Amino acid sequence: MTDVSGGVVVTGAARGIGRATAELFAERGWRVLSADLSLPPNLRGQRRVKADVSTAAGRERIVRAAREMGGVQVLVNNAAFQGAHGGVLDVSERGWARTLNVNLTAPLLLTRALVDLLPRGSAVVNVASVQGLFAEQGNAAYNASKGGLVNLTRAMALDLAPHGLRANAVAPGAISTEAVLQSIAESDDPEQTRRDYEDLHALRRLGTPREVAQVVYFLAGEESAFMTGAIIPVDGGMTASFMMAGRPV
Ligand code: NAD
Repeated sequence: MTDVSGGVVVTGAARGIGRATAELFAERGWRVLSADLSLPPNLRGQRRVKADVSTAAGRERIVRAAREMGGVQVLVNNAAFQGAHGGVLDVSERGWARTLNVNLTAPLLLTRALVDLLPRGSAVVNVASVQGLFAEQGNAAYNASKGGLVNLTRAMALDLAPHGLRANAVAPGAISTEAVLQSIAESDDPEQTRRDYEDLHALRRLGTPREVAQVVYFLAGEESAFMTGAIIPVDGGMTASFMMAGRPV
């Protein structure tokens, strides 16, 4: 796989980490297919498709567009539903199902749908979360979905290796995406909430979408050729410490 001739599919690419990832690959000469529920921004010369990754029709649209693009060597499973709030005792069944469908089942089924298009040497990169490594109080569905995605990544590594494919994941800490910045802005005390988020990390700041995209890019390319089944925290040291875990945000 060379840096300039590849094709990449990025799901959830309309904003946040997905968008930063699509932009980084485009800057580095890749053909990019951005997929999202709403039409992703028009990166110059790149393709975009409106698709719900949790539906068979949405996944078929992505596969068709990927084929039209001339094939792909990288799939970035980034789309996620983060809206099912509630803990073990009160998360709704509907929210649980939606979360698991989008965050865990869709990466499995989209990978499967694209596997015939991926030549040997290709890579899958899943965007998990520190919440796939440890749990946050009151966020049961998301925790379970990302924990599932972490171990699905390992299963992918084992089951795709005979096909010459690698699979790895990133586990971001709190990243300054539109969604995170909005939730800070809408809190009772935005300044304090921002500091609380920052203090979860040893580096005492939020990460940027670009900083996650750079690790995704590394895991997608030949510089990581001997890595598969790895879960890489991109978390400013959050998971290096047990002292910060459990601090309320
Ligand atoms: P975001 O909510 O800003 O963007 C997610 C995108 O996915 C949205 O554009 C949304 O429309 C799209 N999407 C949602 N459901 C979809 C579906 N069914 N089909 C297609 N597209 C769909 O999210 P983000 O903060 O940029 O997060 C991106 C990824 O990083 C997610 O997997 C998230 O769980 C993970 N993550 C984010 C953070 C953070 O702090 N932002 C931290 C850890 C992990």
